[in-house]
Amino acid sequence: MSKVHNFSAGPGILPAEVLKQASESCINFDNLNLSLLEISHRSKNYEKVMDEARSIVKELFEVGDDYEVVYLGGGASLQFAMVPYNLLRENGSAAYVNTGVWASKAIKEAKLIGNTKVIASSEDKKFTFIPKGYDIPADADYLHITSNNTIYGTQMHEFPKSPIPVVCDMSSDIFSRKVNAKDFALIYAGAQKNMGPAGSTMVMVKKDALGKTGRKMLSMLDYQVHIKGGSMYNTPPVFPIYVTLLTLKWLKQNGGISWIEGVNNQKAATLYGEIDRNSLFYGTTEVADRSKMNVCFLLNKPELEAEFDKMWKDANISGIRGHRDVGGYRASLYNALPLESVNVLVEVMQAFEKKFA
Ligand SMILES: *Cc1c(COP(=O)(O)O)cnc(C)c1O
Repeated sequence: MSKVHNFSAGPGILPAEVLKQASESCINFDNLNLSLLEISHRSKNYEKVMDEARSIVKELFEVGDDYEVVYLGGGASLQFAMVPYNLLRENGSAAYVNTGVWASKAIKEAKLIGNTKVIASSEDKKFTFIPKGYDIPADADYLHITSNNTIYGTQMHEFPKSPIPVVCDMSSDIFSRKVNAKDFALIYAGAQKNMGPAGSTMVMVKKDALGKTGRKMLSMLDYQVHIKGGSMYNTPPVFPIYVTLLTLKWLKQNGGISWIEGVNNQKAATLYGEIDRNSLFYGTTEVADRSKMNVCFLLNKPELEAEFDKMWKDANISGIRGHRDVGGYRASLYNALPLESVNVLVEVMQAFEKKFA
């Protein structure tokens, strides 16, 4: 079996050793001679998994007991509704920055729950840049931003200085670089891009941000209920949470955020360097706002698409076809993707140029 270079945008690549440990746990978890899939979430063995999965997030984000972590089902998309439901006061308002498809979906849900203002947007330029220098209303309940725009390939390299609590959808760049987590009231991420498999979503929230809406809360949509239940108010997605824990332990054991940030910088510099150098390709976003996670690029001569596709497929590259809204190519460089895979893609781009330029 030859190695596949997996640039999938999501669900994305996981470390090989995590996949091995995860598969073993399906047969014999913790030497119980039982599968992780057939034991109680209230068992001692699983409670330990949940405790560790919650605490490792706080450790990696370097926050204290004023924050809580829960894992929920429903994907990041459920958080588009839960965030305003839990933070937007009945007579209050929320401020949103629209940087792409996911931000637009978050705005759509917030509007159904309360007064929602879009204070900045890059929609007029097809989301190819990150808006900057906008005013944040000091009387809004929170500001919602998306740190990395998975589909368009833009990323906030600096976060806005905000007078109000900041909520961030970090689904596609969580734990890819150092951020000052204490600047955020709430961070959420669907696990399947950069921290685990599909099926669970991590929410880290500052306790004092909650309980202020004046709303009667449905239990399953109430962060406080999930916090009180230790993220086990109901049966949690046990297996995705376990695999997320394995992935975060892999990150920590290899050197943590500072290590992976260095690797990620190197991968992004290598690929963008080739896109800029190679006469047959160009990047789709403003250079200053380029994402280090999702690299979007197009062919100068679209008629050569079939030739290029054949070459990267022959090199065992998978998952670089662009999102249908952008076209072209998107190479996702999530934490588990080694530099070696980027080098293989760059070699293919160079060979392609030699042959067709
Ligand atoms: C993929 C993605 C989502 C949606 O995640 P689901 O888990 O499929 O709901 C939301 N936000 C961002 C930034 C994403 O990349």
